[in-house]
Amino acid sequence: MPNNRTTLIAGNWKMNNDREAAKALAAELVEALPEVPAGVEVLVCPPTIDLCCVAHKLEGSAIALGAQNCYWEASGAYTGETSVPMLKSAGCTYCIIGHSERRDYFHESDEDQNKKAKALVAGGIVPVFCCGEPLEVREAGTYVEHVVAQVKAGLEGLELASADQLVVAYEPIWAIGTGMTATADDAQEVCHAVREALVELFGAEMADGIRVLYGGSAKPGNIAELVAKPDVDGALVGGASLKAADFSEMVVKA
Ligand code: PGA
Repeated sequence: MPNNRTTLIAGNWKMNNDREAAKALAAELVEALPEVPAGVEVLVCPPTIDLCCVAHKLEGSAIALGAQNCYWEASGAYTGETSVPMLKSAGCTYCIIGHSERRDYFHESDEDQNKKAKALVAGGIVPVFCCGEPLEVREAGTYVEHVVAQVKAGLEGLELASADQLVVAYEPIWAIGTGMTATADDAQEVCHAVREALVELFGAEMADGIRVLYGGSAKPGNIAELVAKPDVDGALVGGASLKAADFSEMVVKA
């Protein structure tokens, strides 16, 4: 059954580019995407330090701005952190949380994601909540349970007024930056399970409107097949988002 969800193509620039390169990439994207195809939304998430200069380049364009991380307290003695109101004032409308790199390298827990999700929604920024299993869990066959548990723990108690206040991104860790994309059927299987978990958390009507993305070596060559699946509403794109030609091609093909 067709749904009303707007496809979201989101670029996660990770810790790449210096200021000049970030500005140049943003400018190239604006030029490559003077308008975004109907039914598609485009988002870029530069490093925190480049949010303001990228925001400036994106002004008046159809491309939205997001951050890659946030802290849940609004202000105070939290050296090195960035709060939701700060992101908001920099022009962000989205913020990635719970990326596997944050969970693995910076030891972030499900509870951390829960606090971040609540702070973001309360502050008017849409969390792009990431979940996904490592290779050993995939091989053990318990990946659906693993991902559903992450979704439930990370989003428990979150209050949504509308479905566009939340995005979930399923990113199997074994497919991130490896060139090993999950098949479109693999992506559909887990994105569907994520949606069922969202039904339990938020009710059927809300869950039907929440975008569930796939991430992990998504590229121009596989995006159309991925988004053709009924529960895959777009992609969180790492490597391919660093090249304006590739990323804009993905937007057009989505
Ligand atoms: P990738 O990264 O597209 O380079 O695999 C995706 C991500 O980590 O968000």
